[in-house]
Amino acid sequence: MVQEFSRRRLLWPGTAVAAGLVLGAGLNAEGAEQPTGEKKTKKKGKGQKAGAGAQTPRCVVVWSEGTAPKKVYPNDINGAIAEGLKEMRNWEVVVANLSDPDQGLPDKLLNRADVLIWWGHEKHAAVKDELVDKIVKRVKEDGMGFISLHSSHFAKPNKKLMGTACSWKAYVGDSTTLKVTVKSPDHPIARGIKEFTVEHGERYSDPYAVPTPEAVVFEGVATLKNGGTDPSQQGLTWQIGKGRMFYFQPGHETNPIFFDPNIRRIMINAIRWAAPQRG
Ligand SMILES: [Zn+2]
Repeated sequence: MVQEFSRRRLLWPGTAVAAGLVLGAGLNAEGAEQPTGEKKTKKKGKGQKAGAGAQTPRCVVVWSEGTAPKKVYPNDINGAIAEGLKEMRNWEVVVANLSDPDQGLPDKLLNRADVLIWWGHEKHAAVKDELVDKIVKRVKEDGMGFISLHSSHFAKPNKKLMGTACSWKAYVGDSTTLKVTVKSPDHPIARGIKEFTVEHGERYSDPYAVPTPEAVVFEGVATLKNGGTDPSQQGLTWQIGKGRMFYFQPGHETNPIFFDPNIRRIMINAIRWAAPQRG
């Protein structure tokens, strides 16, 4: 699957848009490659009214710093996440990288993003404060959704949105698996999700130094190499000004969890939930 995606991505012609690559919208039902762009996604269903703006494609930008091991994530973590979003109709999926111009988020792209997903670890400090300010403004004032993954708890936009230290009690690479359990089954991000287990070699231990979340959607239990266990919070939500924010603890770069169907479902649910409501 990974190889297939890798090959396919190489075949996509002319899909560079702004800072990244448009995915999802470029695949037809058979998965064939098509040159793509925003126009491809502007489909109107029968009975839908024109002119209301409701059919304008929505945009999710999947950003990462590009440090995940290639043998685990050949197209980095954002590439794996984007691949998992292909079923999202009427959504434009843009992959953005720290190494792209404007650190992957030129104003034009950031200003039309409905949701920004962020994965960072080693290069938090490289992200420019000016960009962080723009992201925070988009969330608080315009209602852009922000989804922060794993080690992004220390990413600059995550910390600035939370306004707290965003530290966990402990970070230990001694686990084998993580069992994710649903704490808030009625929450939209939990839709279709039941308890599941993924291989995961790193755990963060509670408490997490953040404001009280609006909801704890997921909890989990890490199983350790020594047979012990460590329960902790896995998926938390907040309202930050006009915007919605979701933090998801799993996602260590040596574990290919973003290819897992449950994780992919959570990403899709979280994007839909975090997107600003259309009036
Ligand atoms: Zn990690």
